[in-house]
Amino acid sequence: MKLLLVEDEPRMAEALQELLRQDGYDVDWFSRGDEGLLAIRSAQYDAALLDVMLPGLSGIEVTAQCRRAGIHTPILMLTAKGELDDKVLGLDAGADDYVTKPFQPRELLARVRALCRRGLPLVEDRLCAGDLALDARGLSLECLATGQSVHLSEKECRVLEYLMSSQNRVLSKEQLAVKIWGYENEAEYNKVEVYISFARKKLSFVGSRVEIRTVWGAGYQLRCRDEE
Ligand code: CA
Repeated sequence: MKLLLVEDEPRMAEALQELLRQDGYDVDWFSRGDEGLLAIRSAQYDAALLDVMLPGLSGIEVTAQCRRAGIHTPILMLTAKGELDDKVLGLDAGADDYVTKPFQPRELLARVRALCRRGLPLVEDRLCAGDLALDARGLSLECLATGQSVHLSEKECRVLEYLMSSQNRVLSKEQLAVKIWGYENEAEYNKVEVYISFARKKLSFVGSRVEIRTVWGAGYQLRCRDEE
């Protein structure tokens, strides 16, 4: 799981990075809000942790700009004690959760886990990638080119949702296992393989030109064959 941390106090940033890395996360750190916004726009992150008071752009402004741009990366605000306004403004701007500094490491990790697990919000009716349209509520997948659609199980839908929202990005088995099943172990890795093969069958059933490629040693990548 890859996290973005935007925090301008070096000691706090260092402590947070250490804590998160010990828990198995990859962390990219930026100290300025505007740099953080650029990074989050690259959409490579499973979740972002944003301080409120930052040079460049505030964490609240970064959140607001992301949401306006249609970026749904889960965001956790790191707010100062007692500053209720920050929490309200942050949530209003589109943050998913907040923790108040100083926080307990265990609490922070629990919030981050919950955030990463939450996955994509189901507010959008349809998620599109290439010629595919996924209806996550109705559990159906349609190929817009052929007009063919197919029903999905809930897990198949979650797997496709994650892959389609991360188009062209390589997702590891670990990332998929954590996102779909909420934790990781060998058994979950096997499930990932099984569900990838189910998803491929559904793609070929609807006649889509989108494929899920195996990137050896790295994971899976959803991409459209037309892009080659
Ligand atoms: Ca700060």
